Order: sequence, then structure tokens, then C-alpha cells
Amino acid sequence: MQPLPPRAVPHHAHPANPYAAGPLDRADRLRGDHEGVRALMTRPDARFAPIWKQANLVAYAAEGVTPQYPPGRMQMLEAAAAWVFLGLDAENRPHFALDMGQAEEPPLAEEGVFEDLRKIGPLLDHEAGAVLAYARGMVHWDRRHRFCGVCGAPAAPGKGGHERRCTNAACGAVHFPRTDPAVIMLVHDGGERIVLGRQPVWPKGMHSVLAGFVEPGESLEDAVAREVMEEAGLPVADVRYHSSQPWPFPSSIMLGFTARATAEALIPADDEIENLRWMSRAELLASPEDEDFRLPRVDSIARRLIEDWLAQG
Ligand SMILES: [Zn+2]
Repeated sequence: MQPLPPRAVPHHAHPANPYAAGPLDRADRLRGDHEGVRALMTRPDARFAPIWKQANLVAYAAEGVTPQYPPGRMQMLEAAAAWVFLGLDAENRPHFALDMGQAEEPPLAEEGVFEDLRKIGPLLDHEAGAVLAYARGMVHWDRRHRFCGVCGAPAAPGKGGHERRCTNAACGAVHFPRTDPAVIMLVHDGGERIVLGRQPVWPKGMHSVLAGFVEPGESLEDAVAREVMEEAGLPVADVRYHSSQPWPFPSSIMLGFTARATAEALIPADDEIENLRWMSRAELLASPEDEDFRLPRVDSIARRLIEDWLAQG
């Protein structure tokens, strides 16, 4: 008997998840020449994505929200606490993220408004969302690594902002951008039902799939099984990878899975989960999306996991 062909990777079968598959060539080959990369900032076609207090610079227009990339005026570049080379776009323009600090008053008031990507993400087009998420994630990491975590000495930027190197010669530790793995899993019964619940801190009515951080010493499938047991009291089997999504709020990558529950009874974690329940495909398709029940935000992999499962029915 011929084995079945492998299942198509969703990334290729469907549009990429929001914030993934950005338009920039990250141009790692250029980063080794840190000063050379810095010199690209003076090019008249260079584009700058400023970050202030984790917020991205945007403008509101009739057609939605658009990112703002103000020109590289000396005053802005000198005011930046740090910069990160993001890469080159299709027209070979260099892109940079700028850390505009945390002052009380937002800078660049004449250029646009700073908004939290968690608020405006669903209003951006795919490419803009990916660039702003990348810029936000890099600046978040950089701001937390100005000092060496090993010895406490200042850490100097290198590689176009993609590393911080300890300035204490006796230490010399090099720190790289990090992203924290979290698993997110749609738990189904092998048939017509999935498990949804809500955390008390979420927007009113929002229900979603289960998720949690991967811990040291765990495989991803270990983490899926542990989190589902902790949050819902369910054992699972058939853990399968679905797709992933950068989630820079502040620094995660969401690793999406499906898993089949091998028991029925739900035992919600007391402090974390409320209103945990099995919901059928029919119930979900008939759901009005109101203050009692709504699905997760449209830019989330949680939404994608649920919609893909619904579409299989
Ligand atoms: Zn050090």
C-alpha cells in the first residue's frame, strides 16, 4: 500500500498568519559590517519605523491605518536611544527600527500617532503588520539587553542591532534577540466538538483555545499535553503541528497545534480559566458574536486554528 502523501503545510496552502512572512529581506549578510549598516541610515531612501513605549507610529486615513516611516532627519536619529537594521525591501531600500525612548510626551507628533499594535493590528494590511511587529519585537528585546545579564557591564550593539556584546573584556558574553515559545492548541474530540474557554482578563465574551509557555526540558508536544491537563484536566493524543505566528506582545512565537482529547470531563484551572466548555461546530457557526460569546481577534493564530477546523466540517 502506498503511504499517504504528507499533508500540505498550511503556510503554503493558505495565506501566512498575521505578522508572519514579512516583505523584508533581513539581509543577515550585511549585518557583520555594523558601521557599514549604520551608514545606510544616511541614504535618502532609508525608511524608519519609530517605536515609543512599545507603540508604533501610524496615521489614520479613510482606508484604514497606515504605518508612518518619517524621513531620517538628523534630529530624529540623534534622539533615538538605539536603532536596529530590519533589512531591505523589494526596492532595495534599507529599513530600520528606531527606539524613540519612553519620555512622557510622544515624539514626532507632526508625523503621526503612536499606537499599540495590539490595538491597531487587525486594521493593518498584512505586510505593514509584519514590519511593525518585527520592529516592535526587536526594540523590545534591545531595550532589555543594554546591560550584560551575566556580569552587569554595559552591552554594546553589534550586527546591525541583532546582538549586544558585553563590554567587559573578562566576560565578553554575546546576547542575541530571543523569542519565547508558547504552544497554542485546538483540542477536539475527533468529531464535531472543540474545547473553548476564557481568561477573566480577556475582553468581554471572548473565548479561545488553550495556550501556555514552553518550559525548559520540554518538547513542544510535552508542553501541549501539560498545558491541556493543567488548564482543562484533559489527557490528549494525536498532537499535530498546524502553523506558527510571531506574537510580539511582548516577545512570543505562538506554535499552533491540534490535539485530540481522550476524555470528556473538563476540570478548569481555578485561577486561570473560566467558562470552559465543549462547543460543537454547529453552535460555533450559529454564534452571533456578542457580549456573551465571541471568537478571538482576527489577527490571532487562535482564530485561524478555529476557522480552519470549522472549515473542515
Ligand atoms: Zn558581561
